[in-house]
Amino acid sequence: MTTHPTTAFTGTDATAVVTRLRETFRTGRTRPLDWRRTQLKRLRTLLTENADAIADALYADLRKSRAEVDTMEIGGTLREIDGCLEHLNTWLAPQSVAVPAHLPQGTTARTEWEPLGVALVISAWNYPVNLLLVPVAGALAAGNAVVIKPAEYAAATSALLAVLLARYLDPDATAVVEGGVEETTLLLAQRFDHIFYTGNGTVGRVVMAAAAAHLTPVTLELGGKSPVFVDHDADLHVTSERLVAAKFTNAGQTCVAPDYVLTDPHTAQALEATLTSAVNKRFGHDPRACEDYGRIVDERHFDRLTALLAAGRTVIGGQTERADCYIAPTVLADVSPSAPVMQEEIFGPVLPILTVSGLDEAIAFVNDRDRPLALYAFTNNDTTRRRLAEETSSGALVFGWPMQQLGVPELPFGGVGGSGMGAYHGRFSVETFSHRKPVLDVSAA
Ligand code: NAD
Repeated sequence: MTTHPTTAFTGTDATAVVTRLRETFRTGRTRPLDWRRTQLKRLRTLLTENADAIADALYADLRKSRAEVDTMEIGGTLREIDGCLEHLNTWLAPQSVAVPAHLPQGTTARTEWEPLGVALVISAWNYPVNLLLVPVAGALAAGNAVVIKPAEYAAATSALLAVLLARYLDPDATAVVEGGVEETTLLLAQRFDHIFYTGNGTVGRVVMAAAAAHLTPVTLELGGKSPVFVDHDADLHVTSERLVAAKFTNAGQTCVAPDYVLTDPHTAQALEATLTSAVNKRFGHDPRACEDYGRIVDERHFDRLTALLAAGRTVIGGQTERADCYIAPTVLADVSPSAPVMQEEIFGPVLPILTVSGLDEAIAFVNDRDRPLALYAFTNNDTTRRRLAEETSSGALVFGWPMQQLGVPELPFGGVGGSGMGAYHGRFSVETFSHRKPVLDVSAA
């Protein structure tokens, strides 16, 4: 289901929104640290005062459990805001650099972070609070005005956030535009100073092409197939519990969800039992009745995903209910690299296991494909860790627990190659929405 503004949004409206925000930016109002901190605090209050309403909207859109809302959506966003509030002064401090001897004595050189101007943030529907508000927090912390475009497929959340953001944030420096392709296209025709897009690579190309017309820099937070290498020496009980927790959160609709498993035939066989018990332990024997298990966002994605279920032998799961957009946590074995499930990002609760002869073949398998947003591995072997680090490329490399990189704000979050460009979280959010300006002051002496 998609939301659209109640009155038609036109190209004139898009121009007016950006012009208004640019005028505010030019007054210098968004630059002082006080203003930035006030906006961050208001964003914080928005989340804490309206946690119940946000949880209800996320339940309506994706049947997200309250625990998931509190940890991933609200908690994850608060953690980023709090980090910004605590460290912003330090992050923004000018940095002096050495001056070469040929310049007159007394010359100083430094870098300063300056805001870019008017940013556009376009969010995806799978974590429609976090993926919208974390970049918005970065844009505000960096001193920008920002146009905010929530994800239309998370309709209830989009509608709620539109009301709340207008109520809590500075209305002269922020604007929410709801809607879908039409409205986003009108926005993309405008000149922004930065565009931050989260979503799929096809639209990422549309965004980048539109940005090129104005030489606007872009951050593209895209997806792809994030592999998991399970080494023969891994503890398969721990591996399976962590793999199941990561894969089936939000019913697999997570950009950094483990997409498929690569392992040797012997380990693959052993994993069938441990993954089965991990699924049963986490979601019970009827995951449909489990409060912590989500639903597929809409019938289009449900149909896409159910068509992938025949790609292998079902180890566990496979049950579906279209009326409820329910697909059970599913593990498939004996999956061929040429199977449909291996041709696109799964973005749902289906985990294929593919066999390789060992590490060499796993590395070759990964390198033969688009560079993933994350590469995960379970291994106790330091040489294996080093080889994966040196011989593969991915947005992030994580050993031992998929998706935990999200909870470490000191780590930049972003893709490489087909999984995107640019990064955010922590200080990287602020840097993304800033220009690092060199200031050279040559002494008159
Ligand atoms: P989506 O359908 O919500 O689209 C994202 C945004 O793009 C929306 O705001 C939508 O209005 C806009 N959009 C759609 N078509 C457009 C067009 N033709 N022109 C202009 N704007 C358009 O989300 P999605 O793409 O289905 O999201 C899923 C994808 O996003 C997956 O590939 C997933 O891995 C990726 N993703 C990446 C991250 C990340 O942080 N790297 C996070 C979440 C999702």
